Amino acid sequence: MPERSPGLIERYRPYLPVTPSTPVVTLAEGWTPLLPAPRLARALELPVELYLKVEGANPTGSFKDRGMTVAVSLALEAGARAVVCASTGNTSASAAAYAARAGLQAVVLIPRGAVARGKLAQAVHLGARVLEVEGNFDAALRLVRALAESERLPIRLVNSVNPHRLQGQKTAAFEVCDQLGGPPDMLALPVGNAGNITAYWMGFQEYASHGLIERLPKLLGFQAEGAAPLVRGVPVAAPETVATAIRIGHPASWEGAIKARDQSGGVIEAVSDGEILQAYRAIAAQEGVFCEPASAISVAGVAKLARQGYFRGGETVVCVLTGHGLKDPDQAVAGVPEPQVVPDELSAVMEALEGMLA
Ligand SMILES: *Cc1c(COP(=O)(O)O)cnc(C)c1O
Repeated sequence: MPERSPGLIERYRPYLPVTPSTPVVTLAEGWTPLLPAPRLARALELPVELYLKVEGANPTGSFKDRGMTVAVSLALEAGARAVVCASTGNTSASAAAYAARAGLQAVVLIPRGAVARGKLAQAVHLGARVLEVEGNFDAALRLVRALAESERLPIRLVNSVNPHRLQGQKTAAFEVCDQLGGPPDMLALPVGNAGNITAYWMGFQEYASHGLIERLPKLLGFQAEGAAPLVRGVPVAAPETVATAIRIGHPASWEGAIKARDQSGGVIEAVSDGEILQAYRAIAAQEGVFCEPASAISVAGVAKLARQGYFRGGETVVCVLTGHGLKDPDQAVAGVPEPQVVPDELSAVMEALEGMLA
């Protein structure tokens, strides 16, 4: 009998802020694949031992489920009746799913016209109530923070400024070490609101403090050129990028990201939308993993560093693919040619195939 997937609270319970009486709200998230990616590394001329951490394999298609299982479990225990969040898309889908599972209402505030349609549809199907704010993500986040602070309604904020989210998300660092048999030399990931890079650094440090790993990886964070406040050192008023999940101009976990970069001896760099989309296609075509554009920036960033001679050669590098490719159907459909039409005849199909395999 295969082992029933317990979800990450059961797997990493001693490291999480839950007690035996906490009701566990789970969709069996976590323990996502860590895949060696030698074909991709060769195609992009990366002189490293490359791995992909496929977070799109989580129940709602992004790593947000890691934080949400913990945050919603603790919200339920605390007697909340609803969870609220501001979202560029994936947080709302995840909040909606875990709220449904717990019997709570999810309310999400999204920036006007800036959320990939697939994600919005997902949140609505999962029972969320959606408010579109006439402003960007940063404005929506300000509003939900104020709502939660007012304490007039029995609601719990489940954005990554809720520390329970980062507690759940840090388990991804545990998994990378457990699956690899030790820490990688470097871990690359997209940086938007910067909760995830903060959580990874927390996770690696915690494993080190328990003596479970003997050294810490360098963290390589990447932002889109049009939404790169951490690279420029100042907030960006009107962030723009094809990578909607990281279209954020004023990251809530700004200090956490800088600390993760500096303490680990890593970098936070900007990558163009063109480079992001090139990596998006290469990851899928070379390794069979379809991720969303924001996720592809981890690979695009490593490729950029490689061109600058950053790697000595042979380092183990884990690229975190944060969300599934089908999350952003508009981007997925854009530029896809119509299929070749063939008559209902074996010879015609044979001939077309010969062309394809030539
Ligand atoms: C949320 C998200 C990010 C950004 O993570 P932060 O914690 O906000 O830095 C990146 N990629 C995807 C797919 C996301 O959903």
